[in-house]
Amino acid sequence: MKNLLLNLDDWRVRLAHEPLALFLDYDGTLSAIAPTPAEAKLPFQAREILVSLVKLPNVKVTIVSGRGLSDLKKMIPVKRMSYVGSHGIEFQVKGLASQRVSKRYIRELGELRSRLQLGLHSLPGILLEQKPFSLAVHYRKASSGSEKKAKRIVLDICSDAVHHGRILIMPGKKVVEIMSPTAMDKGQAVKRLLRFWGKRKHLPIFIGDDKTDEAAFEALRDRGLTVKVGMPDVRSKAEYCSGSLEDVRKFLRMLLHIRVPHVHS
Ligand SMILES: [Mg+2]
Repeated sequence: MKNLLLNLDDWRVRLAHEPLALFLDYDGTLSAIAPTPAEAKLPFQAREILVSLVKLPNVKVTIVSGRGLSDLKKMIPVKRMSYVGSHGIEFQVKGLASQRVSKRYIRELGELRSRLQLGLHSLPGILLEQKPFSLAVHYRKASSGSEKKAKRIVLDICSDAVHHGRILIMPGKKVVEIMSPTAMDKGQAVKRLLRFWGKRKHLPIFIGDDKTDEAAFEALRDRGLTVKVGMPDVRSKAEYCSGSLEDVRKFLRMLLHIRVPHVHS
């Protein structure tokens, strides 16, 4: 895995001249991971950069996150931004319809939620989050004992639905998420957008930090610039790594600098 900032010269010409599709994860990429999702605010500097990026001609900027769409828009209030929420189920992209899931799945999710609430309520530090199209069980604030119990309870309660392919359990950073098996993953979501924008071929850039971003890295690896936030990780499908959130901001600032037409004196 190569370091992005140290190897930016490999990409400089393409970044300067090709139409770009910039995809950014939110948590752990633009905002620091916080004890609860609501506390993970967008840093001021990151917002400033995003506001400038969306104004660039021939650059499409899309936030791709597991968060629900309305939550995502609240966290990143930037005009003209495109959003993909719920891991690729909800789209707010000019001209593109949101995806839908079946009523049966929504019903089942509601039932699982009630059972999980009952099962998990006595475990300290466990947060059950209801999202529009999924449930997330967060254990960042839990002891390892309570984390283990929570995971056991989730597996027990969901086992029948998982076994019959009605739902999918997806692990993330200090969270397990219960979602639709037909939901698009981030890889399918970015491919859908690139097809949709297809008239001009965009150079895709994807920056993310978590397991759900791997689908996008895999989908885009041979097509564009894939960047994992964090230390080099041999298991990741991303080609580059970027050490920290600050490095991500540095890259985005450099991108702005590369794209803004130079004023000749
Ligand atoms: Mg993330």
